[in-house]
Parts: sequence; C-alpha cells; structure tokens
Amino acid sequence: MAKTQQKTVVRENDIRSDEFAKLADDYYHLDLKNVIFDKDGKDFVAIDCPACGGTDHELSTEIHQFSYRLCEICDTLFVSPRPTPEKLGRWYTDSEYVGKIRFQNLAQHRDQRYANIVLPRISSFLEKVSSSLNKSITILDIG
Ligand SMILES: [Zn+2]
Repeated sequence: MAKTQQKTVVRENDIRSDEFAKLADDYYHLDLKNVIFDKDGKDFVAIDCPACGGTDHELSTEIHQFSYRLCEICDTLFVSPRPTPEKLGRWYTDSEYVGKIRFQNLAQHRDQRYANIVLPRISSFLEKVSSSLNKSITILDIG
C-alpha cells in the first residue's frame, strides 16, 4: 500500500443497521450475564501468558468484565482469569445471541461483510505473507 493511500477499516457495526446493532448488543450483554458471569467467578481460571508461558504480566484493561493482561516478556495481550473450556462451550449452546441473532445477522449482511470485511482482510494477509516469503515469520490464526 502506498504511503499516500488511506487505509479504511470496516467493522461489523458499519454494515449493520442501528436497530440490529442495538439488538445484538442487548443479547450480547444478556449472554454475558446469564451464560458467562452466572456464578461468582466459578468456572474461571487464571493463566500465565499463553504465548511464552511468562509469569510476569500485568492488568492492561478491562472490557465487558474481562481482565486483559499484558505479558512483560512478549507483549501478548490475553484474558485472565478466563472461562474454562466447558464454560466457553456453553456460550455456543446457551447463548441467546448465537441462537437467535448471529445467523440472522450473517444472512442479512453476507454480501456487505464479504466485500467490506472478508476480502480486505484476506488481501491484507496475503500482501503481508507475500512480502515476507524470504523471511522467517510466525502467524497465529485464532477463530
Ligand atoms: Zn508472553
């Protein structure tokens, strides 16, 4: 990308209607309350840095009641304490958002999402990989 070009980042709420974004946000917070934070910290585990195993990390920020810690060794940002795998599994089976909203959202906004989010991300990824073909790189794909 030339230095004079402006990089445009399109996010989910840029392609959703305001009404749909509000509904999705309401369900998301309801799920946090009913599925993830339904017990007083039970089913949460404290972890060290998942990238390097480092035990030196500090609280960086809190978002939606999740504590994000920054590893002092490798600068990885991670959630700790975090829900157990069993608790995270309940997000997909018990979540109102996943059950009622997610697939409706995907169907309604599929073309906009593909054109404005998926393709630019794939292009950006391929540009980075192709420019690093002769270098040793590490890629972590989550989700
Ligand atoms: Zn680390």
